[in-house]
Amino acid sequence: MSEHVLPIPDDVTTPWWEATKEGKLLLQTCLECQHVQHYPRAVCTQCAGSQLHWVESAGHGVIDSFTVVYRAPSPAFTAPYVIARVRLSEGPTMLTRIVGADESELACDLPVSLSWESLSDGHQLPVFQLTHE
Ligand SMILES: [Zn+2]
Repeated sequence: MSEHVLPIPDDVTTPWWEATKEGKLLLQTCLECQHVQHYPRAVCTQCAGSQLHWVESAGHGVIDSFTVVYRAPSPAFTAPYVIARVRLSEGPTMLTRIVGADESELACDLPVSLSWESLSDGHQLPVFQLTHE
């Protein structure tokens, strides 16, 4: 990646973005139905409850789906890069990138671990790499 597009945190997402500065990937847990969700929202997507609290993800998951982007949508992106939907061990899926791996190494259901890319504004972007035991 070259120049990243920087986030614009709002009332709902500011705590999430602040936690990235400390290398913490936060998820929301609903106090009413225990549903765990990502990305951050004002209400629970399961029961519409508004009693959500933050929990830190362990940062482990598996590749649920992925694709390789060869043509960048803007000069802010350097192709090729891998976009993936990762299923976190806590349940939610998240759209992210897989870094440090060749396309030929990737497959669905492979285990991945959280990694971070620094942004110029101090926030960090959660990305994933293949888990090598
Ligand atoms: Zn709920």
